Amino acid sequence: MKEIYVMETNKGCIQVLNCLEYPMRTIKGKSIGLHRYVFEQVYGPIPKGIYVCHSCDNNKCINPEHLFLGTAKDNQQDALSKGKRKRAKNKSKEYTTW
Ligand SMILES: [Zn+2]
Repeated sequence: MKEIYVMETNKGCIQVLNCLEYPMRTIKGKSIGLHRYVFEQVYGPIPKGIYVCHSCDNNKCINPEHLFLGTAKDNQQDALSKGKRKRAKNKSKEYTTW
């Protein structure tokens, strides 16, 4: 398993440093978002089809206090309201610096 390096930002985010867009973790051969993994450890299983969203808008953040459950629609609307949609277009080329 790859080691994960984190840093606390001034917004209180626990941000994963050594990842691109989303930190991932492989559990039992399945690749899942690290924020989902952390959420499950803290709050319990995530219902099927439910997303774990970031209240801080930092995809690399794994602070359980910044995570909340939402549907795909919530997630989309949340992203839209934060102006994420534009960025998503160039996903493969994008290297975000926070
Ligand atoms: Zn955060």
